[in-house]
Amino acid sequence: MRKSDNKLTTCYTSLECNSCKILQKRKFTDGDFVFSSSENCSDCDGKMMITKIFGVTMD
Ligand SMILES: [Zn+2]
Repeated sequence: MRKSDNKLTTCYTSLECNSCKILQKRKFTDGDFVFSSSENCSDCDGKMMITKIFGVTMD
C-alpha cells in the first residue's frame, strides 16, 4: 500500500447544447454517461448532451 493514497478525485461532466452549442460544465452526477442527453439548456429550449466526463485529482 502506498502511503499517499488519500488523493481526492472529483469527476466533472461537460455538456453541449444541441441547439445553440453553448458549453457547460458541472459536477458529475450518478447516471451521467457520454452522449446521453441530460437537462435542458439554460439559454434556449434545446437539450444538453453530455460530451465528456473527466476527473480532476486534488492534492
Ligand atoms: Zn441552448
